[in-house]
Amino acid sequence: MARVLLLILLGWLLYVVIKRIITSSQFKGPVSKSDAAKPKTEERIVQCSQCGLHVPESDSHIQNNQVVCNSPECNHTYQ
Ligand SMILES: [Zn+2]
Repeated sequence: MARVLLLILLGWLLYVVIKRIITSSQFKGPVSKSDAAKPKTEERIVQCSQCGLHVPESDSHIQNNQVVCNSPECNHTYQ
């Protein structure tokens, strides 16, 4: 009888743990989704190492490990 109770207890524990993992992963889902959507609305602003201008990250690129904006003046060494 004690063995049955132990099995029930183990099963219940397993159920609780699995349920918690599912709910936490469901909770994580929308959070990571909003994180993925964040850069579109709140874009990171970076400073160009050439002209010092602050530009959105999408308007810049990495050149020689430095942030460079997409302005033609800063890209004379790019190509
Ligand atoms: Zn620049």
